[in-house]
Amino acid sequence: RRREQETVWEINRLVAGYYARQLQDKSGAPARQYLEKRGVPLTVASKFELGFAPASGDALLDFLRRQGVSGEEAVRCGVAIRKETGAVVDRFRGRLIFPIHDARGRVAGFGGRALDDATEPKYLNSPQTPFFNKRELLYALYQARDTIREKGFAVIVEGYLDAITAHQFGFTNVVASLGTSLTREQARLLLRYTATALIAYDSDTAGTAATLRGLDLLQEAGFEVKVVRVPQGKDPDEFIRQAGKSAWEKLVTQALPLLEYKGIHLAREKGIETAAAKMAVLRELLPNLAWLKTAPEIEEGVRAVAQLTGLSWETVRGELDRFLEKGQ
Ligand code: ATP
Ligand code: MN
Ligand code: MN
Ligand code: MN
Repeated sequence: RRREQETVWEINRLVAGYYARQLQDKSGAPARQYLEKRGVPLTVASKFELGFAPASGDALLDFLRRQGVSGEEAVRCGVAIRKETGAVVDRFRGRLIFPIHDARGRVAGFGGRALDDATEPKYLNSPQTPFFNKRELLYALYQARDTIREKGFAVIVEGYLDAITAHQFGFTNVVASLGTSLTREQARLLLRYTATALIAYDSDTAGTAATLRGLDLLQEAGFEVKVVRVPQGKDPDEFIRQAGKSAWEKLVTQALPLLEYKGIHLAREKGIETAAAKMAVLRELLPNLAWLKTAPEIEEGVRAVAQLTGLSWETVRGELDRFLEKGQ
């Protein structure tokens, strides 16, 4: 199994190289054009080893066979598909390719984006295999890890292009969770580099729901968590390109601490007009308050929740103590 994993990494390395060369090739013109449209220079594309999967059905397989890699092995790596007829064909066709590296720079799998907005699915990823687990990888962590350690925090975005654009504009401590469902495994992985995480998901319904889940998950994993509020309807890629570098920098500095973000969200959702509503908001925040460890943190948290709900400090403190007793 270990041997097999090594082989998969070797083959994936070959595949990434092949796709990257195709992007430079004459046939890669549509993909280069697409990158230009998205504002991604080729220097940035090469930092992320972006590539192009030709549209023909077996260009990659042909290349791999010449390198001594069988169709069977290509299927095992997730870069080829065996059809019901038994024929083996390339999985990615006519797509911009994003190699997904592990923290050490090995290519674990691939994402592929259609070059137009009509093709479904918009993104196609390597399938889940014993050798590729999306739940245990953070996109761009390999490129971001040193800056994350230097800066002392990481910013988590949803998509490939959110991460790439952030890096392009100099924010090199940004990683992507590859969709909206951040996992415990991803949190644990990130914790090796920092204990402070900022969530900067798309400002749409899915992004907001994922932010609320992500907050709790990251706090449970041991992070201090904040939320970067991306203006309505945008994702970080669009925002950075439209509003510019300093506007993004400002959003990041103004990131809201977990309790404040969640408190504001709950207050908007449940209202805080009546005593019952205030208590309902407080009850949802108690688990988050209960994670706080040091006395100053707890004091600050209690103060923040009191202010958000309009409840007294004593009430919040009292409810927290009762919650903690019950928990034990
Ligand atoms: P783009 O800007 O290229 O349109 P995006 O990155 O803004 O894409 P979203 O629709 O916001 O895309 O999705 C965020 C991320 O979720 C994507 O970058 C990708 O990692 C993942 N994703 C989206 N759609 C799919 C899909 N159909 N299959 C697998 N992963 C997907
Ligand atoms: Mn989205
Ligand atoms: Mn986008
Ligand atoms: Mn998006």
